[in-house]
Amino acid sequence: MAQQPQQSTTSTPVELTVKPRPGQLTFDAPRRGKPPRHLADFDMAGRREFLAEMGHQPFRAGQLSRHYFDRFATAPEDMTDLPAAGREELVSQALPTLLTTVRSLEADQGDTVKNVHRCFDGATVESVLMRYTHRVTMCISSQAGCGMNCPFCATGQAGLTRNLSTAEMVEQVVQGARMLRGGRVGRAEQEPLRISNIVFMGMGEALANYKASIGAIHRLIDPSPEGLGISARGITMSTVGLVPGIRKFTQEKLPVTLALSLHAPDDELRDELIPINTRWKVDEALDAAYDYYQATGRRVSIEYALIRDINDHGWRADLLGEKLNARGGGWVHVNPIPLNPTPGSKWTASRPGVEQNFVERLRAHGIPTTVRDTRGSDIDGACGQLAATV
Ligand code: SAH
Repeated sequence: MAQQPQQSTTSTPVELTVKPRPGQLTFDAPRRGKPPRHLADFDMAGRREFLAEMGHQPFRAGQLSRHYFDRFATAPEDMTDLPAAGREELVSQALPTLLTTVRSLEADQGDTVKNVHRCFDGATVESVLMRYTHRVTMCISSQAGCGMNCPFCATGQAGLTRNLSTAEMVEQVVQGARMLRGGRVGRAEQEPLRISNIVFMGMGEALANYKASIGAIHRLIDPSPEGLGISARGITMSTVGLVPGIRKFTQEKLPVTLALSLHAPDDELRDELIPINTRWKVDEALDAAYDYYQATGRRVSIEYALIRDINDHGWRADLLGEKLNARGGGWVHVNPIPLNPTPGSKWTASRPGVEQNFVERLRAHGIPTTVRDTRGSDIDGACGQLAATV
């Protein structure tokens, strides 16, 4: 880690985030100080300007980018191609410490690792690394907290603290990549050692922090050394169903997968489970998701947390199948997620037979359906459990 002489703010506790009332939506993050600017906030042209503004040579952008995006290095002593005089200052200005990992928890014999990171202002966020036989998926946060207030999600219950910057999102991935390369995720001799998939399914609603999230996607997919060179096809943007955000995202024409957190096919129930449904209804969200598929050719995922006796009825599987088929064939698949328990919620996962029936009824409508293997529920690292408690 680069030395941060001027930055003693890491231990300042963040002011308490106000918990939302049931159904209350928060779109604008309460105003707070911004994290320091970082190389990863900018594309290559922006990096040159950023360095020039601070009185450095613009061509250092390429050198620093290779250190950060290729080697995951942040320590000045590892950057021997930079002149020794002023190196510390250059590195601390271009690559300030954004996230300090304050807790690291393992599950699945080390194949799942949840990291709790503390930001410059004391806000905490979480990321999760999941190693499988042929791929490594990382789940990252786009906001500290979340303003969407879904009653079954621990993050939603905590309220929105603030938006993360682009570099704060990228830094989660760089730290994960560094852990993986250092043999600290799963057994050291295991392949693969690179992150192949990124899902925006950690804390936050990324489309509510639109600009910074798009910046992060570019840093993830841009070829090295401008970015991390991860395939756009390996990235999934998950949304609660912010329809204008989905429409805007469609215009980006990136081959990123869109996941829509539907959780109910009817407005009556969805109004209760997903407060944003009071603004944009099931059919509007599905239309936007279908148009995303049309524009990008990427098959959309529908997320459906199965909650015992709440949304797991056979007729709801049929209604979902009908609504998806009404828009076309081959454009979508459904990802039922057994509900993960969260504090203060009385809801639990569906009974296994009920889950199986739900899946079979969707398949009978010709909808490809796979139950999500949720990792890390024993370390509160699974979907909906991220509350960043230290
Ligand atoms: N804001 C984004 C990302 C949320 S987390 C979104 O709404 O899509 C990723 C997924 O986990 C979402 O589908 C979310 O609804 C789901 N989820 C939240 N809480 C959950 C829980 N307790 N059990 C299972 N899935 C949950």
